[in-house]
Amino acid sequence: MKIVYSDRHAAHDPQTFFVRGVKQRSTEQPERATRLLAAATGAGHEVVAPRAYGTAPAATIHSPDYLDFLQTIARDWARLPDASAEVVPNVHPARYPATYPKALAGRAGWHQVDLACPIGPGTWDAALAASELATTAADMVLEGSRAAYALCRPPGHHAYADMAGGFCFLNNTAIAAQRLRNQHQRVAILDVDVHHGNGTQGIFWERPDVLTVSIHADPSNYYPYFWGHAHETGSGKGEGFNLNLPQPLGSPDAPWLAAGDTALARIKEFAPTALVVALGLDASESDPLQGLKVTGPGFHAMGRKIASLGLPTVLVQEGGYLSDDLGRNLVQFLAGFG
Ligand SMILES: [Zn+2]
Repeated sequence: MKIVYSDRHAAHDPQTFFVRGVKQRSTEQPERATRLLAAATGAGHEVVAPRAYGTAPAATIHSPDYLDFLQTIARDWARLPDASAEVVPNVHPARYPATYPKALAGRAGWHQVDLACPIGPGTWDAALAASELATTAADMVLEGSRAAYALCRPPGHHAYADMAGGFCFLNNTAIAAQRLRNQHQRVAILDVDVHHGNGTQGIFWERPDVLTVSIHADPSNYYPYFWGHAHETGSGKGEGFNLNLPQPLGSPDAPWLAAGDTALARIKEFAPTALVVALGLDASESDPLQGLKVTGPGFHAMGRKIASLGLPTVLVQEGGYLSDDLGRNLVQFLAGFG
């Protein structure tokens, strides 16, 4: 497997994360990527450099005002009196009709859905680099590679067209899927991260050309709470083209893999000609976020199942946090994928 990687992610090192109201360092740390890279190269996978695309691929998914916000907010925020080192919103427009504000605090609340997506001086460049990794991997697949893996950090699947959240800023998975649409009429996304891919769901909610399927811990008691329930199936022309397969918290391999079979059956019915896998590894039994209890052999088996579709496939790294199994689980999945 070709691993698309850049060390530009390291400029993004978020310090702000709240758990039950207590501030702590984010679990989304640069060491995640270096561990994944070391494990993949140790297993013999080849690293390739990303191509330069600038903001064009991101702009196929994200709104101009949001991209402007991400590019400028850290610099402008730093000029505010007594500002924090990272942009963290303290107000949100919530669920009622609202007007886009001029104030930086208001724009932060508009574009950052939670406190788990602080924006520091290096966030924009790292997020842009991750979008270029995903685009490079998609182009490699469009050029004939059977599969390619983008080692993206920060992750992307919680990011909407105009909103960051849950460690995510640019939706690398969505950007890759849209890139594949340049040559493929129907593209499927399978998200196996322990968290629902709510941003990806939101982006393709009304579209019948990109099927979104997510297997995740039941959001009724797990992030992202408001999205990821089984009754969310898309709307308008996209009705029926979103499938959520929530799993009870703490589920082990067997039900997770059975959900994989359900997902693959829906994907086969959709009959796409290309696939994007949102490859979160945080469903691991060893992950500090403790949503599901998937083992290394479980990741291996999921890799095999997905590979059996025989589709040109872009693998995009999503979540998966520091544990002794993080790198091993990536290697297991890639070995299963073959
Ligand atoms: Zn996750």
